[in-house]
Amino acid sequence: MNDENQMCGSCEKDLGIPRIHHADVPALGVCCEECSGGVSVHDQVRALHEQARVDRADAAVAAIGTMVNDMAFGGDQEFAPGMMRMHRTNQQSAFGAMLSCVTAWGSLTDVQYDARNEWTVKQCRKIMEALDIKPGDRPR
Ligand SMILES: [Zn+2]
Repeated sequence: MNDENQMCGSCEKDLGIPRIHHADVPALGVCCEECSGGVSVHDQVRALHEQARVDRADAAVAAIGTMVNDMAFGGDQEFAPGMMRMHRTNQQSAFGAMLSCVTAWGSLTDVQYDARNEWTVKQCRKIMEALDIKPGDRPR
């Protein structure tokens, strides 16, 4: 047994990979191929990371939903200055995520939006045109 390696979550066999140390990936969720019903350790780890990404995105969307609800009460005064204080590499990534949203909104068909988000869709289409982004493009 190697304490540095990840153990099977069911039978505790050494999986032969470094111990999973990401806080948002449940280390006990990985089993040996035999205990997992034939799924390779590599595929299990990849699936856990993918689920962690989905969970983080869901949490971020929920937080933004709360924030924009607050903005109706003046909470928008803090958002942009807060973003400017973020690590500059993360600012770049955040803008990429925002541009992905612009592309997604701007690519909606006319039956996929209504008066509640019409202004957003139309502004996003103008931004896409100005930046030469085509519907379905993945900016950057
Ligand atoms: Zn096992």
